[in-house]
Amino acid sequence: MSIICPKCNKDDQVQKVSVIYESGTTTGSYHGPVATVTHSDGKLGSSGSYVTGVSSSSTHLAQRLAPPTKPLKPSFTCSYYAGVGMAVIFGICLLPTLIGSLAYGMSGDVRDGMVFAIWIPLTLVVVGIVMAKKGWDGKKQQDTEHPKLMADWNKQIDTWNNLFYCHRDGTAFDQRE
Ligand SMILES: [Zn+2]
Repeated sequence: MSIICPKCNKDDQVQKVSVIYESGTTTGSYHGPVATVTHSDGKLGSSGSYVTGVSSSSTHLAQRLAPPTKPLKPSFTCSYYAGVGMAVIFGICLLPTLIGSLAYGMSGDVRDGMVFAIWIPLTLVVVGIVMAKKGWDGKKQQDTEHPKLMADWNKQIDTWNNLFYCHRDGTAFDQRE
């Protein structure tokens, strides 16, 4: 099975894009066009000039022919949950201590101080709840958006895996089209 370039109708300069990318370079002594692969309106276009024996341009080519970047799950959700855990645990640990201190009775000044201090763990709990809400909303958004991004990416990768590149013309093309 040979892949025919749609532009020059030959197969001798055609190489799989994923192979070019993975090898990083094409041939050691490179003679051919330096291609610029451009994306516009979802179509691959190209322009280029003819050079000889530049291996770094091949590496550059490999970079240009890199596959679409895999969408990463946002990590901010985790830090929210960590913050939630710390705030809530800290607040809950302090609360009975302070209530106990108040219940056993102290001098008026200290008690006033404790009444004030009780707002600190209470605030922490409130902050914890707010953070939990944010974390939960972020997770829900992530759960609905990430599969869509992954589906798009899988399509792009599927296309990319079927892309071939003609070194003569500097053309990347989908063999299935
Ligand atoms: Zn060609």
